[in-house]
Amino acid sequence: MIFYKTDEEIELMRQSNLLVCSALAEVASILRPGMTGAEIDKAAETLIRDHGGVPAFKGYRGFPATLCVSLNDQVVHGIPDKNQVFKSGDVVSVDCGVQLNGFYGDSAYTFALGDVPEDVMELLRVTNTSLYKGIEQAVAGKRMGDISFAIQYYVEKENGYGVVRELVGHGIGRELHEAPEVPNYGQRGKGVKLQEGLVIAIEPMVNMGRKEVMTGKDGWTIYAKDRKPSAHYEHSVAVGKTQADILSDHRMIEAAIRQNDHIREVELKALVA
Ligand code: MG
Ligand code: MG
Repeated sequence: MIFYKTDEEIELMRQSNLLVCSALAEVASILRPGMTGAEIDKAAETLIRDHGGVPAFKGYRGFPATLCVSLNDQVVHGIPDKNQVFKSGDVVSVDCGVQLNGFYGDSAYTFALGDVPEDVMELLRVTNTSLYKGIEQAVAGKRMGDISFAIQYYVEKENGYGVVRELVGHGIGRELHEAPEVPNYGQRGKGVKLQEGLVIAIEPMVNMGRKEVMTGKDGWTIYAKDRKPSAHYEHSVAVGKTQADILSDHRMIEAAIRQNDHIREVELKALVA
């Protein structure tokens, strides 16, 4: 069942998502080589709790941390701990969820730490841009497949990367994961009709090589099967009458990146083909 949100509920969800992005901006301001997953996780949890929020992932089906931190060939759901030590050249995907005032926020960003090779930077730029290609379609009257197709076409047809199939975006609201599913692959004109009040997390996961993934020994971490790098960007958005309303705010994160010499900016590519 799909729960459509009122304007008041969407404003509450904006607050939840701004807290998520404040936590991701905090990560962006402290991240550097030599730091550990445990350190950025603690910083994010402290910031969230100081603002009255609750980390959404901690305890979710037994997940042990506030952030999912996934390095290089890890796609998503990596567990940040003290043995996860960041080094120059790593791509660090950080996913964060928060519950605040009864509503969830969910957003993710992949950071380029230090000397990331140019071909991997291109993967990040294309993945980040594909998120906005999907968001462009989050308009009342279109269908879910229009979002899915826009992402898949840009990533696979125009850029030759692999879209992960096993994990998808989702509705979000009073639950972290609500109906409907938001696949990053699909057919134009198919699927759930989009209407105002629908709030969804759009989150392309893109592999530089093949699309296939596998689960690691910890039972959580998802890896690219060919062990090539992978990237992940996520926004929570409300479907709008003429354009989507992006509730999470990556500009806060990008402002923090520009202040941190250890992280390279991930520019968007031109949105209009
Ligand atoms: Mg997420
Ligand atoms: Mg999500």
